[in-house]
Amino acid sequence: MRSKKRVVAIGDVRIGGRHPVAVQSMTKTKTSDVKATLNQIRRLKRAGCELVRCAVVNKNDAEALSRICALAAMPVIADIHFDYRLALLAVDAGVDKIRVNPGNINTDWKMKRIIERAKEKNIPVRIGVNSGSIPKSILKKYGHPTVAAVVESARRAVAFFSKHDFHDMVLSAKGVDVMDTVETYKILNKEFDFPLHLGITEAGLPFQGSIKSAVGIGILLNQGIGDTIRVSLTADPVHEVAAAYEILVSLGLRQHGPVLISCPMCGRCDVDIGSIAREVEKRLKKYENYMKVAVMGCVVNGPGEAREADFGIACGKGVGAVFARGKEIRRVQEKKLVDILFEVIDENLDT
Ligand code: SF4
Repeated sequence: MRSKKRVVAIGDVRIGGRHPVAVQSMTKTKTSDVKATLNQIRRLKRAGCELVRCAVVNKNDAEALSRICALAAMPVIADIHFDYRLALLAVDAGVDKIRVNPGNINTDWKMKRIIERAKEKNIPVRIGVNSGSIPKSILKKYGHPTVAAVVESARRAVAFFSKHDFHDMVLSAKGVDVMDTVETYKILNKEFDFPLHLGITEAGLPFQGSIKSAVGIGILLNQGIGDTIRVSLTADPVHEVAAAYEILVSLGLRQHGPVLISCPMCGRCDVDIGSIAREVEKRLKKYENYMKVAVMGCVVNGPGEAREADFGIACGKGVGAVFARGKEIRRVQEKKLVDILFEVIDENLDT
């Protein structure tokens, strides 16, 4: 059961309460390049992204946000570090939320200005603590960015916002170390009822980063912790969205498009199951419906798995069987298997 947090509205997306865990990503273009940024946001939308964050590094980025917000097909979040004036400009440009790192805007009056402007525009703020930017006084006390230091940093920021009567908050406290991040979020979850945005920061290239994120985010989500997630990858952000949905679908928290099940191959396999699975994966991209499609390499486990899926193929020697909704419906030559599988999917999809 998910921990019930207060509901926060980011544009038309609601998080917290019983709302589904929302998928977030970040554009990797210069935000001031409106055309490239909007193009990336469109691709993210097609991939299923629900919230997009844009880095605001300078005045040009902040000013570009008004056009981006007007044309983006999802709520836009401004990511601010260091310069409180950029936060004010971003709010005026019409963003749906801002993310600030209190460790980088470490002056009370500047933070107060941000709070006042967010209140005026009625938008939420994410307090995004990062293990790499703990305020100096806290770092001095703990020596390193330990879990306790990160938590104290979040606690101090929340107390400051609350003191100024601002409660429309989302919290995050990302770290590079997976288990430290898990520990940090568990404490924040116990202590606060603000929605939590989960992520493992600087997770890495797609292979390593997806695994690290799946472990960290997966442990937390499985304990009912987390309201939005971002899988940070050194890659096209569309991969971040795909990885996020893999995590959510695996945990049974969301349904999103087709799920491909393919056998890992072994010595019983007489076909090139890798090529067949890749071809099926490619053709499945045009489908939006949630369905399980199994691609199995032999007649030992193949028919059983293919029957359990919504659609499937089990290969043999030169021939294979096609399954739909638990029944074997065709036997076809290996080279026609994928074409026939998709004919069968199209015929049966909404029946
Ligand atoms: Fe091996 Fe057959 Fe299982 Fe694939 S389905 S891993 S080929 S036993």
